[in-house]
Amino acid sequence: MERRIDFWRERLMLCGHCDHRWRVDLDWIERWDQAKETCPGCGMTCEHEDSPRVTLDSGDPALVDDRVARFSWYHTSTQPDWPTQHFDPAAVLAPETRRRLGGE
Ligand SMILES: [Zn+2]
Repeated sequence: MERRIDFWRERLMLCGHCDHRWRVDLDWIERWDQAKETCPGCGMTCEHEDSPRVTLDSGDPALVDDRVARFSWYHTSTQPDWPTQHFDPAAVLAPETRRRLGGE
């Protein structure tokens, strides 16, 4: 299943302080990151630990377990030949870290 790519889609925000939810666009998020916007519910800015953040949209069909496997997923990479057959993202990790992540 293909979905139209829309990086400018609205995002759902959830305030960790007052539980207010609302939709914003990327311009709002940019202003938010500069502490120029506040939570409409409680007035909190991005500078607080439990401030609002982008959250999952429960209406997103990609969150439905029996539908998710039918979506096409795309990723970008800084590697020109991605994906290489022998790429090992864990190669840079210490042995102990590799073990904690489940081993080989
Ligand atoms: Zn709030």
